[in-house]
Amino acid sequence: MTRTEITPSPTVTPRSEEQIAARVKALEAMLIEKGIMTTDAVDRLAEIYENEVGPQLGAKVVAKAWTDPAFRERLLADASAACAELEIGGLQGEDMVVVENTDTVHNTIVCTLCSCYPWPVLGLPPNWYKAPAYRSRIVRQPRAVLREDFGLDVPDSVEIRVWDSSSELRYWVLPQRPADTEGLSEEELAGLVTRDAMIGVGQPLHPGR
Ligand code: FE
Repeated sequence: MTRTEITPSPTVTPRSEEQIAARVKALEAMLIEKGIMTTDAVDRLAEIYENEVGPQLGAKVVAKAWTDPAFRERLLADASAACAELEIGGLQGEDMVVVENTDTVHNTIVCTLCSCYPWPVLGLPPNWYKAPAYRSRIVRQPRAVLREDFGLDVPDSVEIRVWDSSSELRYWVLPQRPADTEGLSEEELAGLVTRDAMIGVGQPLHPGR
């Protein structure tokens, strides 16, 4: 499959769910009519991204990075290659870059142009990720947006870095491993990793919560 991306034109933004649905239907009908796609392929793709691909895959990668320092190194050096070791990859994940949170740096991702996002590890982006409000404001006032919109207080002593994804490079975040998780298995650790933590607008859960 060639690398294509259908993104809303910034000048013609659909106004309602109904308009978006109508537009999707029209696009689908056109692609099928022109023989570019089949209905079966459309159904299969929807099924994959609804049921099979999602943040649970990214969480698995994060948990492995927390427990396997050599894997963590490989993940930070070449995220797409490291994910491929776990048989995670595919459309919109060809060139992924993982940025690591530390005691002094908090990373957040955005696509200021449209909605580029690492599908193979996070699934499809949430609506707010595609909204102009988030895309424009997270760049200018990251600390305020994280606090006001996501309830995430990043201390002033921690630098916030905002990474602008594109169709060539898709960033995502390796969050910090929560305290008091020494005794947990990789699978239990993965259960603490949320989608928002990998976007950088949240933190992983604490055990028992
Ligand atoms: Fe984009």
